[in-house]
Order: sequence, then C-alpha cells, then structure tokens
Amino acid sequence: MSTSPNPTLDLETIRRAPKVLLHDHLDGGLRPRTVVELAEATGYSALPTTDVDDLGRWFRQAADSGSLESYLETFAHTCGVMQTEDALVRVAAECAEDLAADGVVYAEVRYAPELFADGGLSLERVIEAVQAGFAEGERRAAAAGTPIRVGTLLCAMRQHARAQEIAELAVRYRDGGVAGFDIAGPEAGYPPTRNLDAFEYLRTNNAHFTIHAGEAFGLASIWEAIQHCGAERLGHGVRIIDDIKVGADGEAQLGRLAGYVRDRRIPLELCPSSNVQTGAAPSIAEHPIGLLTKLRFRVTVNTDNRLMSGCTVSSEFAALTEAFGYDLADMQWFTINAMKSAFLDFDRRLDLINTVIKPGYAKLASEASTG
Ligand SMILES: [Zn+2]
Repeated sequence: MSTSPNPTLDLETIRRAPKVLLHDHLDGGLRPRTVVELAEATGYSALPTTDVDDLGRWFRQAADSGSLESYLETFAHTCGVMQTEDALVRVAAECAEDLAADGVVYAEVRYAPELFADGGLSLERVIEAVQAGFAEGERRAAAAGTPIRVGTLLCAMRQHARAQEIAELAVRYRDGGVAGFDIAGPEAGYPPTRNLDAFEYLRTNNAHFTIHAGEAFGLASIWEAIQHCGAERLGHGVRIIDDIKVGADGEAQLGRLAGYVRDRRIPLELCPSSNVQTGAAPSIAEHPIGLLTKLRFRVTVNTDNRLMSGCTVSSEFAALTEAFGYDLADMQWFTINAMKSAFLDFDRRLDLINTVIKPGYAKLASEASTG
C-alpha cells in the first residue's frame, strides 16, 4: 500500500478506471426523477415530495438517521414504485447505464423478488422483467462506448420465510443472468441459521451465495454465515474488525475467526458510506477498511445503496483516496479483488482481468507518468 496521497487520482481519473461492484441493491439505486415518474405512472401517492431535487435530498437525509432499521424504511418508497414489469425493466436498464457511465465494467446487483410482487406479479415475472431491463441497459451501455456486464443476486428477506423458494429460483435462473443468492434485511433477531435448508439446497446444487452479516451485528453473525451456512462472501463483514486487536506497538493480532476469514480469502463486500449512515462506522477516515486493507484481507469496495447514500463507486473511491491516500495501484488491487470474488465463471473473470482491468489501469498509469 502506498502511504502518500497521489495528487493525480482525481475523480475524473477514478471514473475512467475500470471498476467492479459486488454489493449494490437494485431498489437502492434509482434515479430520483425515475422515482417521481414511476410514482405518477403507477398511481403511487405516498412519496414525501414529487420535486426531483427535494426527493433526492429526502432519501439521503432519511437514510442518515443512524439506524439500520430507519435506513430500511426508505425502501418502502422505491419498492412502492417498482410493482409493474415496465417499472422493473426501466429501473434495471437505468441501473446498468448509470454504473457503466461511472466506469463499472462488471457488477452484481441484488434484489428481493418478493418485494416487487405486491401488485400481483409472480416472482418469475419479476425476475424476467429485471433480467430484460439489465439486457437492455447492457445494450445501451455498449452503444455508448462503456460496455458493462451485470449479473444479479436474488435476495431472501430475513424477516420472511421464503428463503427456500428464492434459492430454488436462483438455481432455476442461473443460466439466465442470475449469478447467486443472498440474505438481506434486519440482522437483529434473524440469524442466518434460520435458513439452513436454503443454504444446503444451494450448496447441493453448486450455486453461489453471499450473506449480509457483520453489519449491524458482530462476530457471531459472521461466524454463523461462514461456518454454519457456508457463505462464500460476506455482505459487509465489517465487524470482523472486532476480532482484531492492535497493540500499543501498532502490531495487529488476529483472532481465530479473523484469521480464518483472511486465510481463506473470504471476500468482504465493504460499503463505507452506507456504514457511516447506519452508524456501523463513525466516519470514512475511521472506517475499518483502512486496517483491513493494510492487513490484506480480501477487501472490495461497494456502494450498497447509491440513492440513499448519494454515492457512486467512483465517489466511494474518491472518499477512500482522500482518507487513506490510495493510488491507482491500490485501486487496481481492490478491483482485481472484486473480480476474483465475483460469482462469474473463472474463465470470464480471468478474461475481464486480463483484457479490461489490467490494460485500463496500465493506460491510466502511463498517462499519469507522461502527463
Ligand atoms: Zn446491502
């Protein structure tokens, strides 16, 4: 890791650098204008305001309240306007376009199909509409000269009891763009072990899954997700820091669980801005990502909810660069970490690393040195 701030790593350079995103919620990334227009088109009348700028601000402020539970309340509105096939196609297509315009070359975007079935859509139609939207967004992004590939993760909600059904859908649609499975929703009171059957089903079917763990809750939740459920990645996982002690001499000592997570290269889907909003970290500068990166955990940088946090992948990197002095080489390390951890076939991951990511960073580095 470089320790000195690199003045050439400005927002524009960060935006042009190829990036990989593993943790982003479809219902957390709508354009404010789209929320307003879909509300009007679908007869959703509960928005706090229909002024586009005010609404954008409202989402960020409501999400800023400091608790995960209130943060999740903002989703009532985004999900409220996503109850038709047309709405799902539009939101997914715009998601792919927005990520591609931000320089993301590969993304896994997640959502819980059951949250979009209130208007009578079957879960299958929800999934097919989202996939059609991403296919359309990929086409538009390629036409704009910013190609992106998007896979989806189907989430089951912790507080509902449909994990098995969603897991079966993830397996059924795995050749149709669904890359894997996840468990989302409030951690408190809903340990991942409530869904052991679903995880066993996924493992039996050689399917991929990550689990939201170690965000609001601590080590027990991370331990369960890995050792009982078999999660390949940790959604957030930021509380693994609780198993690391830094002595007065600055030496870090890893507990057994932290050591296991690092030894096995279990990817951490870290989402700095989101963690600050929900109170899981006091600030970006004090976010455990600094220490976890220094200790060479398999750290990846993610957005979680771009609308609620008012962020992009590039703005997350810009904030980290300012706080920790990361340079292009560090950014490439985070990006390759994420690509290695994707639920995509090995040969395709390798291809993106060798033909898109490494050449992209090499080009930016040579511009910076001759610049
Ligand atoms: Zn999340």
